[in-house]
Amino acid sequence: MAIKLLGVFVTTLALTTFLTACVSQPSTVGSNPKSLFQTSTLSALQAGQYDGQMTIGELKQYGNFGLGTFNALDGEMVVVDSQVYQIRDDGVAYPADDEVQTPFAAVTFFEPDQQFTVNESLNCVQLQTHLDDLLPDVDAPYAIKISGTFAHLKVRAPHKESPPYPVLAEALADQAIFETENTTGEMIGFRLPDYMAGLNAAGYHFHFISQDRQTGGHVLDCQTGDLAIEVDAIDQFRLDGI
Ligand SMILES: [Zn+2]
Repeated sequence: MAIKLLGVFVTTLALTTFLTACVSQPSTVGSNPKSLFQTSTLSALQAGQYDGQMTIGELKQYGNFGLGTFNALDGEMVVVDSQVYQIRDDGVAYPADDEVQTPFAAVTFFEPDQQFTVNESLNCVQLQTHLDDLLPDVDAPYAIKISGTFAHLKVRAPHKESPPYPVLAEALADQAIFETENTTGEMIGFRLPDYMAGLNAAGYHFHFISQDRQTGGHVLDCQTGDLAIEVDAIDQFRLDGI
């Protein structure tokens, strides 16, 4: 499956890159809900390219679930239930206007095909190891939603940057960090295989949004409580904005 999937991925990537080069307008939305759509790459973001052309309104055409950031690195993005939230360095989740632009985001139409529960106390590393045992194929990409109460949660949001932009590692050397106890909400994210490193983050990457949609951030660490985990297998990758 890994080899087959890699073939699909490379073919789709090459085709999408070709189409992106030829067509100035965004391509029409595909009918495949299992497609992961992404604007730009993590490598570009890491190099300090914090201003993109895609608006949140456009991004919503490609998915109702995902994560990313905003132009000028102005916060963490959470896309859940077709709503886009901008979590700034005050820790507050703001509904993002459709006109706001993103330099990097990945979204899909979330249709879970597997569900699990966790009823033991695990830290984030242990949770990821547990998930690795549950997923059918760790060489495949997955969208994952983890819902419930987290005994402990450590999240971050970057500070908004001004040009000339520093590289991402430098920007994140100073970031806003928030730690909470017994917080209920959802982790929205992905587990992507090693061969997608650079395009996106290999392994697990989650952004948290509280149940009341007031707070959240990029997940740095956690301790679980009782959780429900929903998994959506991805079988196509579409890249735009490069
Ligand atoms: Zn993140």
